[in-house]
Amino acid sequence: MWLKRQLERSALSLLSGGGHRAPAILIYHRVLPAPDPLFPTEVHRAQFDRQLGWLKSRFNVLPLLDAVRLAAEGRLPARSACITFDDGYADNSEVALPVLQQHGLHATFFIATGFLDGGRMWNDTVIESVRRAPGGAFDATSLGLGRHATGNWDERRSAIGALIGQLKYQPMAQRLEEVGKLARLSGVDLPQDLMMTSAQLRKLHAAGMGIGGHTVNHPILARLPAAEARQEIAQGKAALEAALDAPVRTFAYPNGKPGQDYLPEHVAMVRELGFDAAVSTAWGASRGAADWYQLPRFTPWDQGMAKWGLRLARNMLQPAARV
Ligand SMILES: [Zn+2]
Repeated sequence: MWLKRQLERSALSLLSGGGHRAPAILIYHRVLPAPDPLFPTEVHRAQFDRQLGWLKSRFNVLPLLDAVRLAAEGRLPARSACITFDDGYADNSEVALPVLQQHGLHATFFIATGFLDGGRMWNDTVIESVRRAPGGAFDATSLGLGRHATGNWDERRSAIGALIGQLKYQPMAQRLEEVGKLARLSGVDLPQDLMMTSAQLRKLHAAGMGIGGHTVNHPILARLPAAEARQEIAQGKAALEAALDAPVRTFAYPNGKPGQDYLPEHVAMVRELGFDAAVSTAWGASRGAADWYQLPRFTPWDQGMAKWGLRLARNMLQPAARV
């Protein structure tokens, strides 16, 4: 066991060389209090606890901004990793924070400010509508979104996938309208407390966690006129800085796929608006000199712990896309 871990550490050191290279950056969204029958692979408290234990025994977990500054100076320790969360779910503060604190680990939380204090992201409206919809089928043919079987959790999950797939790349205003109609059609009460309150946001910040920008309304920047995209990025930063009375230095592109969800002009905006670093959702590792405004990230947890090292190693060998 000891030898295996030492070999694993050596391999990870070789792959995540430190120095000028970027750290391995992990993405989380939610940490549920308990397993969800609708999404059995979604991370929950006990699993998060195990993952942090695993991570801590193999990596130097650093605050994202510290890791970026050390790497820029060529002083990043080998096997450096950073933990990040996107969107601003209430469970980040209520479930994830105490587990991070038990392990003495730091994470950076990217918050879409438009959903603070009772908001709900459109995909969650779809999920919670279909989760709660009564009967064996959800009929959205009147909205042109088809009829979907909901007889068991598998069917409900497929229905959600199909509906989100149809709605995902619609223009924002049209999508919001359709999603509103869908929620009314389901006829169920939807939760108002999925996203953080301002008090929960301040709790994370007061605990020493990093807070980063993630726009106001979580638009796909590449689909917005330039002036609106800039406003989304700038207003999200300003809202966080006002709520925290502190500068916000890091940013995560909504959805985050280079060339699809954001473009070179958005990278330039993020730089001009005074951020020090930004993260994408491209997998893989930075090649050559890292681009501090397009740091790749990945989600290694979906298939359990056993294959983690292998998946991480594979990820680090694969060059990341950028625009
Ligand atoms: Zn997001």
